[in-house]
Amino acid sequence: MIVIKRGKEPNSLLKFRKDNPDADYETDMPTDVAKDIREQMWEEQRCLCAYCMKKIDAPAVVRIEHCRPRHPKDEQEHDKKATLDFKWMLGVCYGNSLVRGVKPEDKTCDAHRGNTELTVNPFDELSVRKIKYKADGSIYSDDADINKDVTETLNLNCQALSLPQTRKNVLMAEKNRIMRKCKGKSQDAFIHELERTYASLVQERNLTPYCGIIISWLESKLKIS
Ligand SMILES: [Zn+2]
Repeated sequence: MIVIKRGKEPNSLLKFRKDNPDADYETDMPTDVAKDIREQMWEEQRCLCAYCMKKIDAPAVVRIEHCRPRHPKDEQEHDKKATLDFKWMLGVCYGNSLVRGVKPEDKTCDAHRGNTELTVNPFDELSVRKIKYKADGSIYSDDADINKDVTETLNLNCQALSLPQTRKNVLMAEKNRIMRKCKGKSQDAFIHELERTYASLVQERNLTPYCGIIISWLESKLKIS
C-alpha cells in the first residue's frame, strides 16, 4: 500500500460539485470529470495501484476507489458530498477482475474488497507503516484489524497473481543493487546509501512497483518507526 498524498482536486470536479450540490458520485459523475480524476490520481500515485502497488499502465484503466477511513467517526459514512470529495479517493487496479470466470479468491484490491470497511488509512503514513512483510514477501500487520485489511479484505497475498513472490524479488533486486554499490566501502557509506534510497522513495516520492516492501525493510534497518 502506498501513502497517498492528494493535491488540489481537478478544476472540473470543483466546478461540478459547485454546480451540482446534491450530486452523488454513483449516479451523476460526468465521464470527463472522472477522466480528469483518473489522470490526476495516476500522476500523484506514480502510476501505482494504491493497494497492491502494481503498475497501472494508463489513466484509462485506473479504477476510482472511495476509501473513507473510519476516523474521524463523527462524519457520516455515505453522505453524498463525501463521495465527491477528492481527498478520499484512491486510484486502484482492476484486481484481476477483468479475467473471465476469475474466482473470488483470485481477485485483489477493490475488486475483492467490495464494501467491507478498512481500518488502515492510506492517507496516514503512521497507519501504512503498520503494514509489514515476511521473508517470503507476504504482507501482514501486528495490528489485527490492519492484518485483516491486507490479508483478507484486499487479498494482498493473492497466490494467483504471485504477489508475495513478486515483492520478494523486488526487495532482493534492491538489496543487490545496494550491496553492489557499497561493496568494499565503509559501514557509514552503506547507511548513507540506505538513507538516500529511503529519501528518494518516501520524501521525493520516486515510487516504484511494490516498493512498500523496500520502504519497510529500510525503516527496519534505519530504525524508523
Ligand atoms: Zn491493485
